[in-house]
Amino acid sequence: MSYSVQQIAHIIHASAKINYPCHINYLLTDTRQVIDADSSLFFALGTHPTRNGHHYIPIAYNTGIKNFVVQFDFDDSPYPDANFFKVHQPLLALQQLAAFHRSQFNLPVIGITGSNGKTIVKEWLFQLLNADYKIVRSPRSYNSQIGVPLSVWHIAAYHQLGIFEAGISLPNEMQALQKVIQPTIGILTSIGDAHNEGFQNLQQKIQEKLLLFQEVDCFIYCTDDLPEETILPNVTTFSWGSSATAKLQIIDYNYQLNKTIVHYKHNGNAETLEIPFTDKASIHNVLTCFCCLLYLKVNEAVIQQRIQLLQPIDMRMQLKKGIQDCVIINDSYSNDIDSFGIALDYLQQQAAGNRTTVIVSDFLESGIPTQQLYENVAQLLKQKKVNRCIAIGNNIGHYQHAIAAAVEEAYFFIDTTHFLNEWFRFSFQSEYILLKGARKYAFERIAAILELQVHETILEVNLTALANNLRTYRQLLAPTVRTMAMVKAFGYGSGSIEVAKVLQFYHTDYLAVAYIDEGVSLRKAGIALPIMVMNIEESGFNAMVEYGLEPEIFSFQLYHQLHKFLLEQGIENFPVHIKVDTGMHRLGFNPNEANALGNLLIANHTMRVKSVFSHLASAENALHDDFTKQQNDAFIYFSSVLQSILNYQFLRHIANSAAIVRHKNLQYDMVRLGIGLYGVNSAAETNLHLQPVASLKTTIAQIKHLKPGDSVGYNRTAIVQAPTTIATIRIGYADGFSKRLSNGIGFVFINGYRAPVIGSVCMDMTMINISHIPNVKEGDSVEIFGKNISVEEVAKWCSTIPYEILTGISQRVKRVYLNE
Ligand SMILES: *Cc1c(COP(=O)(O)O)cnc(C)c1O
Repeated sequence: MSYSVQQIAHIIHASAKINYPCHINYLLTDTRQVIDADSSLFFALGTHPTRNGHHYIPIAYNTGIKNFVVQFDFDDSPYPDANFFKVHQPLLALQQLAAFHRSQFNLPVIGITGSNGKTIVKEWLFQLLNADYKIVRSPRSYNSQIGVPLSVWHIAAYHQLGIFEAGISLPNEMQALQKVIQPTIGILTSIGDAHNEGFQNLQQKIQEKLLLFQEVDCFIYCTDDLPEETILPNVTTFSWGSSATAKLQIIDYNYQLNKTIVHYKHNGNAETLEIPFTDKASIHNVLTCFCCLLYLKVNEAVIQQRIQLLQPIDMRMQLKKGIQDCVIINDSYSNDIDSFGIALDYLQQQAAGNRTTVIVSDFLESGIPTQQLYENVAQLLKQKKVNRCIAIGNNIGHYQHAIAAAVEEAYFFIDTTHFLNEWFRFSFQSEYILLKGARKYAFERIAAILELQVHETILEVNLTALANNLRTYRQLLAPTVRTMAMVKAFGYGSGSIEVAKVLQFYHTDYLAVAYIDEGVSLRKAGIALPIMVMNIEESGFNAMVEYGLEPEIFSFQLYHQLHKFLLEQGIENFPVHIKVDTGMHRLGFNPNEANALGNLLIANHTMRVKSVFSHLASAENALHDDFTKQQNDAFIYFSSVLQSILNYQFLRHIANSAAIVRHKNLQYDMVRLGIGLYGVNSAAETNLHLQPVASLKTTIAQIKHLKPGDSVGYNRTAIVQAPTTIATIRIGYADGFSKRLSNGIGFVFINGYRAPVIGSVCMDMTMINISHIPNVKEGDSVEIFGKNISVEEVAKWCSTIPYEILTGISQRVKRVYLNE
């Protein structure tokens, strides 16, 4: 369904100038997601003065987009052949348009909200109902104020059921989502304390969530989650839970090795349901789906069979090092067209201009006509400039022509086995490879060949968490303040290239590294952001110029060396950053050297000062706030003397992560964000809700049962007093698991319990006491730090700081990148 631009103007109450009559098929909020520019409508969202959608209109216009929803005061005069729809709030307009679109269809729509499990319930309902309905649903976890309207926009005439999730983080958001989704069936998944931040208390959050269900025909929930008095009046319910008032009353759960038998009562009959999971969250989600299918009058025996076949949902896109310098992105989440688009965006972001190959199977057809489906696939491949496509499956093979026309090279196989028989004919070399296959095509067999063998200790790096942390800090900044992200020391151990790509995607202004070679490898990987290098030497000048890296100048000696070099090369106005030492006493000019330096800079035109900066010695600590103030005074003095001599503007910056939080007055023109990006709040006694980025994990190699008097490890530092069960794990001090954690100082996390180190940490292995932990097996996963044990805690045990723990994870530990 498409809308004429006149209709759109009417629906969103815009004052519109129509210079170019056309129809709209696609809604965009990010210029990088364009599929068909001609029929796309771009919404300029966001209120940030420099990072909002209006800022990207020139770029959007250059990619061929001709339709823009903007704020009233936007100056559209440079674009005489484009259409501008002017409104007070572009986000509201997006929601209004989606709500209008939704109201054109009379189909059942399931609206899902809750604190945990929204996406899983949505995906499982899809798996369970796919045979009965042509379903439209939210891609991945598109459940925000923007994601919901974009999802609902996909409803088409051939759909028979919609399933959309709604997530909120602030009061008053649900009302807007209710209007867009207009659910006829409401589902509340489990209510936890996740994302409580924006709300006064749990009660307020529940009340807000229930707003989604104001007009539903049926509301499905668990009686154990929801206090009786909060139930909506005048709404039919289908509840489950231990309460006798529940429509589906749970009698008991019988947990077995790999399944759970649930005894329940429905319509007075005692029945059993077998669930192929044993964890509480999955059981909760299955029972919620079960009620929904019962409400939809699917035969009870049929539901029971389908539940047997439910597959766990892994929403994370994994990025791993592959053979021959390749990078493998494995997205096994689902192979519908929307999630394909999202995966391609991620591929493009990570590849940053490097060669790309997409290995893809037949797509799931949920109603969209097959021809159109594969034409869309081809269009996406073309739009994302994919170099090579390897397509596996019978259906996609029928559209060879379209696919082959979209990429430089295309190959077709009827199944995975045929591809694997021939795969040696392909050269995979220094490229980014996306694997996106339906489950029955078993792409894990392809992944096994392409991925490097991983040593079983891994550092999992959650790039979504990193992006969220960036957002959290940006919210603390005054609107015009820029961000320099510190990716020195291999991105604080997380991997500078992968991290830099995410930062580039989110429009960070600057990157900084410690050494020239760190900057060079970022450039070689396709990073185009300006990069400051803090510690340069004469031997690196050539590379610095060749790769466009911007040095920190901290002394007259360095200034003269560089000046001489630039003069010989005939280079003028080379960008540099001046460092002043205001009390850290590490690198930098003395504050009283500003005059002399300024005069040199103005006399010789070899360099141009991009910024002047200093570093705080103790921004995190209130004890030293007076000293911080002294440092700031010296910084103001130095930078103003220099500014009075130079006849052009430069940026000033002094704040690190802790100062962003604790010293709002020190933001100046830019801040330098380091440890906070990686999920550690360095500012003591402040509450920031950062998300852990790096998780260090290993596995159990062997389990042993010791008797009293037995000793453990080198030098027999541990002698057990009672019968003791120990596990040997595959990590040691050579991996960055400090020897200081020996003999009960450190703990690791297994199966929901903490287990202390017993004996001394060895080079490659460590023994831990697991006597108190039930059901531990060899091969089980062990968390060293991550969700359950924080890096801060490990640092305390080692009498050090989180910085040393993160940067000390050895390079032999493979990094695995996740995108949620
Ligand atoms: C590392 C570093 C930072 C970042 O510090 P965090 O405490 O990690 O935020 C800022 N500025 C300079 C000069 C640095 O070396």
